[in-house]
Amino acid sequence: MYQNRAFELHTHLYGCLREEELKWLASRKDPRWHIFSSTYESTYGQKPDLEGIFLPERSDDLRRYSIYESVGNFPEFQCCFDFVISVAHADEEEVYEVAHRLASRQKEPYAEYRMLFGPQLNLNDYRKRVESLCEGFRDSGREGYLVMSLWRGGDLAGQQYELLRELMHANSAVRQRLVGIDFCAQEEGFPPQNKEELFRKVLQDNEEHPESALSILYHVGESFQDKTLESAARWVYQSAELGAHRLGHCIALGQEPEEFLNSTRKEPVSERIRQLQFERDLDLLVSYANDSDLNREVERLKDLQNHWLEQEGRDSSGKDSQRSEGEPLIEVQYSRDHVDRLRDYQNQLMRRLATRATVIEVCPTSNLRIGAVKKHPVHRFLSNDLSVVVGADDPGIFDTDLEQEFQILKRDGVSESDLERMVELSRKSTSPALSGRSN
Ligand SMILES: [Zn+2]
Repeated sequence: MYQNRAFELHTHLYGCLREEELKWLASRKDPRWHIFSSTYESTYGQKPDLEGIFLPERSDDLRRYSIYESVGNFPEFQCCFDFVISVAHADEEEVYEVAHRLASRQKEPYAEYRMLFGPQLNLNDYRKRVESLCEGFRDSGREGYLVMSLWRGGDLAGQQYELLRELMHANSAVRQRLVGIDFCAQEEGFPPQNKEELFRKVLQDNEEHPESALSILYHVGESFQDKTLESAARWVYQSAELGAHRLGHCIALGQEPEEFLNSTRKEPVSERIRQLQFERDLDLLVSYANDSDLNREVERLKDLQNHWLEQEGRDSSGKDSQRSEGEPLIEVQYSRDHVDRLRDYQNQLMRRLATRATVIEVCPTSNLRIGAVKKHPVHRFLSNDLSVVVGADDPGIFDTDLEQEFQILKRDGVSESDLERMVELSRKSTSPALSGRSN
């Protein structure tokens, strides 16, 4: 048994809801079924039948609507996710009760739950809900803690962070139960460098006020349809360099590049230039066998970029590295040589990360079903001495729990001693431990 000893460090509060809680939520306030129905219809081409969906005789349909079991089918996952969104309202009373209930039935000796509110929520309501969540965890009397997932887009994260700091001063439940910040949901279009200033501020605040230190958790390298595998692995590396304490998923760092052999990938010219410069700076060439070929390509791409910027009448100094509309895409071919160099590049990045204190959170079911990886990168993480912990991510939506996640790794060939090390490491890698929180 692992679950009664391991700490759960990567899970999302509303992704933990199971049938009984969904039923309770649906009876508490009218579900906003239009959210689920429209996603369902666009995915399956027909309307869902929601009449009496919580009655015992409809349990198979409820399962089909709310539990995601396919592999690599993101629209289907979105349906299950939207089922939860439809029955949830996340108002003050509800989030208190959800935090209280989930911590009360928690099997792990300690767990950190992440929570994200959409950008439409005003800061005053945001404040009340964070307080309610923390009070719910506190009143459960269990070791359940809150990590607030901040909004990746715009500068909302900075405002939310300031508010959280204020709240820690004003409310003892928040001071006690809020332990970190996180970034989740869509990562494409949001490079880690955009958060450089915020990360620096958090780390500085932690040093000056260790009594309210917050960890920085960061989902990265999980979904990277918009770029090459090497760029996605770079994002993982750069997140750690910027000071994130724990990184979620990091599939790109350890996914076997052989899975990409003879395929092509595209990425925006600006991303391609950043990647080639990174390879040159770290002396870890992937795309070219030598510096002169690489330099020639960088010059060619810069000309291409400048030409496009001139045409568009844009300023190339723009700091926002999000892909601008219409930016030229560069195609990258995964030849045998490229794949071999890429594997070596990933190994080098992993070894460098192993010398830092960065912790990687692996979520096997989530990665196998959403990430659709053929072979889980955990094996390469371990052989490169990375610090790995296990999380169940959305155990309600995947119908799993932390025990099953450990069992999956065991069946997949992870040794008993490595699994024990993960248990041990989870107990040392809580947000307060990594952020340097003092009591
Ligand atoms: Zn997650």
